[in-house]
Amino acid sequence: MAEQEDELSESLSGENSSKEIAGSGDSKAKWYKRLRKGITTTTSEKREMPEGLWSKCPECHYICTTSELKENLYVCPKCNYHHRIGSEDYFEILFENNKYTELFDNIESIDFLGFTDLKPYQKRLDEIHAKTDLKDSMRVAVGEMSNAEIVIACMDFEFIGGSLGSVMGEKFSRAVDYCIQNKLPFLVISKSGGARMMESAFSLMQLAKTSGKLSQLSDAGLPYISLLTDPTFGGISASFGMLGDFNIAEPGALIGFAGPRVIKETIKKDLPEGFQRSEFFTGAWLSRFYC
Ligand SMILES: [Zn+2]
Repeated sequence: MAEQEDELSESLSGENSSKEIAGSGDSKAKWYKRLRKGITTTTSEKREMPEGLWSKCPECHYICTTSELKENLYVCPKCNYHHRIGSEDYFEILFENNKYTELFDNIESIDFLGFTDLKPYQKRLDEIHAKTDLKDSMRVAVGEMSNAEIVIACMDFEFIGGSLGSVMGEKFSRAVDYCIQNKLPFLVISKSGGARMMESAFSLMQLAKTSGKLSQLSDAGLPYISLLTDPTFGGISASFGMLGDFNIAEPGALIGFAGPRVIKETIKKDLPEGFQRSEFFTGAWLSRFYC
């Protein structure tokens, strides 16, 4: 091995050029002979490409820079696919000049049941908080949109699949109170797998709590807009997701209660094409809206 390395460095520095002239074609061939197999660069020596510089569309595989994608509001310039984004990006897009005040950000999830699945719930929460800086799967903020004030509650899918737990229920409820006190409209951007199983029945109670609060908002004569994005499932679509004065949806978003695989296994029938996509729901139930 050491001998081979010497040969390689000699070849590269041209030190064996005399041999080349005098000898046969053998040494010349060494120039083109691969002496080391595989990629030998160690990880520490690799030049890192800055993370997230490029983005690939999962639908049409079109590759563009993240700044190009951002300029296009996270919609694929080629096929109109809507990339999944979080509350930070939605607030930046929707609030004028990215100016807004976050509300109720002092509430955070804790493991009050001592629940353990693959790992303890509290450990899961701590890990996600450390990774994303999020305290729960919903953030609420107030700011201006087209010169009118509005309260927006937006889910973050990266926080346990945007699941509905007691913190989301409480934030939602306080956001409604804030809207009533300040006479503001309420927009909720949903992106969730449904109820948070680690909070058991407490999670399910949020369905009634949030729906009840919406009746108070309605009694106050204030509009509630529900924007359903990909995916919106379970407890969300079974409660406030579908209770909007306007229910609007992102193109191509999966929306439903149980997933298509579960339904297919239950009814033992093939599902129609485009089943549970936002375009599949029509009429009074869901107004199609391209945003
Ligand atoms: Zn695309």
